[in-house]
Amino acid sequence: MARFALVNFNLYFNLTFGQILNESLKANLRFDQQHIWHPYTSAIDPLPCYQVVGAQGVHIQLATGEVLIDGVSSWWTAIHGYNHPLLNQALAEQSQKFAHVMFGGLTHEPAIDLCRTLLSIAPSGLNRVFLADSGSVSIEVAMKMALQYWACQGNSHKHKFITPRNGYHGDTFAAMSVCDPINGMHSLFNDSLTQQIFAPAPQTRFDRHWNEDDIQSMQQLIEQHHHEIAALVLEPIVQNAGGMRIYHPNYLKRCRQLCDDYNILLICDEIATGFGRTGLMFACEHADISPDIMCVGKALTGGYLSLAATLCSEDVAQGVCQGQPGVFMHGPTFMGNALACAVANASLSILATGAWQQQVKEIEQQLRRELEPCRTLSTVADVRVLGAIGVVECKAPVNVAELQRKWVAQGVWIRPFGKLIYIMPPYIIQPEELHRLTQAIFAVLR
Ligand SMILES: *Cc1c(COP(=O)(O)O)cnc(C)c1O
Repeated sequence: MARFALVNFNLYFNLTFGQILNESLKANLRFDQQHIWHPYTSAIDPLPCYQVVGAQGVHIQLATGEVLIDGVSSWWTAIHGYNHPLLNQALAEQSQKFAHVMFGGLTHEPAIDLCRTLLSIAPSGLNRVFLADSGSVSIEVAMKMALQYWACQGNSHKHKFITPRNGYHGDTFAAMSVCDPINGMHSLFNDSLTQQIFAPAPQTRFDRHWNEDDIQSMQQLIEQHHHEIAALVLEPIVQNAGGMRIYHPNYLKRCRQLCDDYNILLICDEIATGFGRTGLMFACEHADISPDIMCVGKALTGGYLSLAATLCSEDVAQGVCQGQPGVFMHGPTFMGNALACAVANASLSILATGAWQQQVKEIEQQLRRELEPCRTLSTVADVRVLGAIGVVECKAPVNVAELQRKWVAQGVWIRPFGKLIYIMPPYIIQPEELHRLTQAIFAVLR
């Protein structure tokens, strides 16, 4: 009898508790819709959001109980999966020492270790690190370095940037000016942006026969404009948010050569491609080139905290600091945040085991095998894969909210944009989990 009462009580309690939870969840989501901006969303007609209560490994758990396999690594960041014991530990230990101190005049071991490791794994020739707080800021810093470099050599007419179409480099003003002027999500601002020089996007695909014509327009524009060009900015090998395009390494090689021939700095934006995503530590390695300035971000902290870095050659660093004002003119408040550096060090130490190479290779093989059948569907224009990146390009823009509802019901998290459905899962994903992602894509497209 006593036991029965207890069971009854539990039942009653759980029901009531569940209802309260449900009410508070609804209130939360209502508040969210009415008061909180999300990335690229409308205040008038906001798309629904799903409330997360936990994340572990490749799984994201929703407040409504569903557990989703994450196909996006929270936008390229969570390469080792969520709630990773080593990353947690690094964060906890550093928080016991200090979370942050100003970087002006002060320094600390987490930052020193991080910069030492970054320089040891970066393409050769990069010798100095500027720690920035987000990818966009690291691009601003890179562009500012290039401008200051030429200005300090009395070459201030070199103040423009050249970049291929279909690029994406961030949402701040200088970064926006080198995003694709139409695809780059910022066409509205074109009149307020510095007008840069756009070359056609590379056309030869990564694994096809290189066509020398592909570099002709870039070459002509550089011949014509090199006197006013400070730097060429591009995403090496994979153009990400500007179209998820994967291009031939020779294009990057030729760009490096043109920069050398015409006295132009090369800025490689490795923010999405860095840290193993394309199968090599940095995408530049596919073309065996070194940039003068390189930006990293996204996966740098394994998805834990916002941190990015701009690396440059000693020549750039020295050039920037010659003449007036004699210092590099940038210094964010949260520069070199110790918590972020500590967790980045832990993430890089996981990469240093080298396990990612086999993981990414296996993901690549499985993506090729399992996404290829999408090509037969009438709605699909193209399928492309490199490393742990799989892209299905549709013939028409997809309905994000509707697809997401279906995918959540199937237990997967995928976030398409425009015509592009793409996945870049955590490297630790298991074959059967990846299979669920690829099957979910095939299923909704059919
Ligand atoms: C995400 C991204 C950026 C911008 O980084 P944020 O951290 O969002 O400011 C810049 N370049 C590339 C290639 C990116 O993928």
